[in-house]
Amino acid sequence: MRRPVIAGNWKMHNTVAETTALVEGLLATRPPASVDVVVAPPFTSLPAAAMVAAGSPLGLAAQNVHWETHGAFTGEVSAAMLVELGVGWVIVGHSERRTLFGETDRTARDRARAAQRAGLTVIYCIGETLAEREADRTFAVLSSQTDGLGSLDPDRLVVAYEPVWAIGTGRTASPEQAQEAHAFVRSCLERAFSPAAAAALRILYGGSLKPSNAHELLARPDVDGGLIGGASLDVDSFSAIIRAAADRAAGV
Ligand code: PEP
Repeated sequence: MRRPVIAGNWKMHNTVAETTALVEGLLATRPPASVDVVVAPPFTSLPAAAMVAAGSPLGLAAQNVHWETHGAFTGEVSAAMLVELGVGWVIVGHSERRTLFGETDRTARDRARAAQRAGLTVIYCIGETLAEREADRTFAVLSSQTDGLGSLDPDRLVVAYEPVWAIGTGRTASPEQAQEAHAFVRSCLERAFSPAAAAALRILYGGSLKPSNAHELLARPDVDGGLIGGASLDVDSFSAIIRAAADRAAGV
């Protein structure tokens, strides 16, 4: 049984004060021990989140990391800088990084490798656009996006399947569409690693996941948790999704 992961991607939301309040609110709900709960505040809020979450099982993620250890890379942050803050996870290759900031499979893999070398666990995002799905290219896209992941350490890797057409749009993949894509991604990971490693890897669904659809999506056999944007900004909705993941862990 794979342990569920519920990760909140806060994107460019929440000041230090807002981060403190949100993390305090989340911890007050006493997240169930059967789920890995992770939040990804903006860089500026990571120290505050680390301070509030100290001593708790809440995981802390960054939203990006550079592939070099240091140097003339204005605006970038290294993996060691994140580790120093108490960060344990990092989101890599999010579709907003790909479409708005020129991220490619190659740069995403380079970031992931550097992050893992520093001891971070990588949440590696993949997913097709609407045009690609409509052209029946979903599997081809997922296959090429997972190509080359074999150079990563599967023990420090979580893959997030996020159909781009479902991110922030209110449109969600049906449980059947999610399961089909997740099973396909797992078959790609079998080739990249080994059947045993792929069977142990957590594959998260992302794209307008919310309390009203969490239960049915998280009930699918290959959906091992979620990467959540909008609904992670509210304690009640995020904790409802965490509870749905705990139900999955309990086989409910
Ligand atoms: C995301 O940004 O990874 C995401 C899934 O966003 P949302 O939940 O808002 O669709």
